[in-house]
This record gives sequence, C-alpha cells and structure tokens, in this order.
Amino acid sequence: MFDAPLFKDAFTQLEQASEVMGLDPNILERLKYPKRALTVSVPIRLDDGTVKTFLGYRVQHNMTIGPGKGGIRYHPNVDLSETAALAMLMTFKCALVGLPLGGAKGGIQVDPNELSRQELQSLTRRYATEINSFIGPNVDIPAPDIGTDGQTMAWFLDTYSQLKGHTVSGIVTGKPISVGGSLGRAESTGKGVAYCVNFAAQKIGMKIGSNTAVVIHGFGKVGVPAAQDLKSQGAKIIAVSDVSGAVYNKDGLDIDACSKWCKERRFLKDIELPGTKLISNDELLALETDILIPAAIDGVVTAHNCKNVKAKIIAEGANGPLTKEAVTYLTEKGAFIIPDILCNAGGVIVSYFEWVQGLQNFFWDLDQINGKLHDILKDSFDTVIECQEEYNVDMKKAAFIAALKRLDRAMRLRGLFPS
Ligand code: GLU
Repeated sequence: MFDAPLFKDAFTQLEQASEVMGLDPNILERLKYPKRALTVSVPIRLDDGTVKTFLGYRVQHNMTIGPGKGGIRYHPNVDLSETAALAMLMTFKCALVGLPLGGAKGGIQVDPNELSRQELQSLTRRYATEINSFIGPNVDIPAPDIGTDGQTMAWFLDTYSQLKGHTVSGIVTGKPISVGGSLGRAESTGKGVAYCVNFAAQKIGMKIGSNTAVVIHGFGKVGVPAAQDLKSQGAKIIAVSDVSGAVYNKDGLDIDACSKWCKERRFLKDIELPGTKLISNDELLALETDILIPAAIDGVVTAHNCKNVKAKIIAEGANGPLTKEAVTYLTEKGAFIIPDILCNAGGVIVSYFEWVQGLQNFFWDLDQINGKLHDILKDSFDTVIECQEEYNVDMKKAAFIAALKRLDRAMRLRGLFPS
C-alpha cells in the first residue's frame, strides 16, 4: 500500500537512523506507518456543466507532541502513499525544530493548472467539507503546499467556518493577512532556506558575496524568496527553472524580472531577457555553482544524475528532492547537504507563529517573526551538526536522529495506550 518512492526513502531513512542511534525497536515500530489516513471523493461540477470526481487524502502520521500539522498539495502525482510519506516527514520536521506539533499532510490528485478559478474554489470547498470532521484547530491544521496558496486557505477557512457557524481562524495557516494570516508567512520557507544556506556557508568557510553562484531548481513559492534573499546578500543567481525549462546567465539573472515574467505569463519558457540563455532542467542541475537549491518537488537528484552535480552546498528547499542514493554519493563527494526537514522548516515554523497569534488574537511585527525564525533554525542547525559529529552519519540521517530523540522522549513519557 505504501509503495511511493518517497515513502520507501523516508522509511529507509527512519530505519537506518534508528539503528545508528539505537532507538528502542518498540518506538520505531510505532513510527513506521500513519496513525490515521482518510481517502475522500471530491466531485465537482466543471465549467462545461459535467461532473468530475477527484481523489483527496488527509493523513495524520503522529500526534504525540501536538496536533497534526502539514500542507495540502494539489498535484497529479498525489496519492495515499506519497501523502503518507510527506506526513511522516512533517512529524520529523516539527520534532526537529521543536514545535509542539505532530505530522500530517493532505492533497488532491489534480493538475490545478487545468482548472479555472471557479473550479478550484469548488474543489477546495468540497474537499474541506469531506475532511472537516477529521481535522480541527486542536487536531490537525492544514496549510499551503505545492499547487495551493493563500487563496486556497481562505476558501478552506470559509468553508470550515460555514460548517461550524462561526469563524475558526486556527483551522488553517498560510492565510492571507486580511483573514488572520501572519506577516512573513508567504516568504518564510524561502527565507528559512536562505538562513540555512548562510549557516552551512559559515560551517564550511564559504563567504556569501558577489562571487557566490546560486542555482535554483523550482522558481516558485520557495525558490523566489530564497533567490531574493541571497541576491540581497550579494550572491549571483545564475540559473532558475520551473517545469517548462530553465534560464541561465553566468553573470547573474535579474530575479525581479524573472519573477514578474512568471507572474504575468505563468511559465519561464520563452522568457526574453538580455544576456540569458534557455537551458533544460538537466543542464541546470549540472551547472558549475557554489550553491544548488532544489526547491520544486521530490526525486529530482537521483542515482542517474547526481554525478553531474557540482555544487558545494545543496539546500533541500523541497521535500525529498534528493533520493537516498544521491545523498550517499554527494556526501561522499564532499558536498554539504542541508536536509529538507531542516532546510524547508521555515514554512511550518511561521505557520506555528500564525496559529499562536490567531489563538491569542495578538499579532507580531515582521522583525519579531524573522528574528524568532532565525533563532529556531540556528538552534536546529547546530543540533543536527552535533548529531552528525556524534554518530558520524550524513546530514539527512543526523536530522532524523535529532528529531527521533525528541519524539522518543515524548513517546516514552506518554506511554502506549492502553498500557
Ligand atoms: N507545506 C509546508 C511543508 O511542507 C508547510 C506546512 C505547514 O505550514 O503546515 O513544510
């Protein structure tokens, strides 16, 4: 049942990390599969009057430390097994960065680019209705992920609130500011990636400045703010890509122009910018660069293409962009890999801030948010380095070990019900 490559990878990472750290097999046994999983039909009327049914999922992996937390993905590859893998990664991500939250994930198997705005609204509202009794502001709190955004969260919030008869602001995070969102949430994942790149650069003695080349695979919600942040520190963003292709300029791209182009015309393909060259995504991954940020989707750097990767720092902005074979090869080759559950945790950290602010109806300023985000990521980065040195493992396993230590403590204290 759980046969997606991402699930197998996460499962193997979990087993290997458990073995290295000597985790009690009875604790491991309880973390192997999701606590609960729900599959729903999401029928909607399309603009042409016909009805089409999509498959939707919500998976709660572990809720020992707190309510489930994790995004909702709209993508053609979504299925139960991939959603379960992503929910498991959320458990470890929240535990690693010390949030009082468990791991969950949801999604619909759909290509959102093929639906109109009205169809997307119907899809979101029907999905929210189908899963409404499974979630709650103290149970499981969704957020955006690939293919969803603030507007999706606003429709979701409205539907859930209509069903309850009053506004339940804590039901989702990643909301637009005007309906209870937090400052800094939209850029938080990319900002967190940029912070982690800085910690990694410091660790290996790389100075981020005008000679630092950065390549970004996936110029979207994570890639764009990461690019902007690193560019503001003087780095050269030499290539960026989306599903349609990649654009390259060895002297550095005009990131604002690229981002404007994508907003207006959706895809990077055919971009007209002086001095730039169109290349393929494979060529982009093989570019000579200091930093590579795969920020799109899982399974991008694999056993087949990892030998071409030349970057010194690889920052996993996406969830699972490097397969375990690629991690092993690139670590042996000397690359510094910032693991996904650390590198892209900025999103869920500021989601947590949004949830807390909403519960208190008291909102913080951007400096407070970014300051706390920085400090949490720095502490977590240092913890992963400590585990990496103590157990002499790659950074991915080290991050799993750090997360497992927190989970292990909490699971032991709470015990197994019934005892
Ligand atoms: N979808 C994001 C992730 O994979 C954010 C989840 C959240 O904010 O709950 O971490």
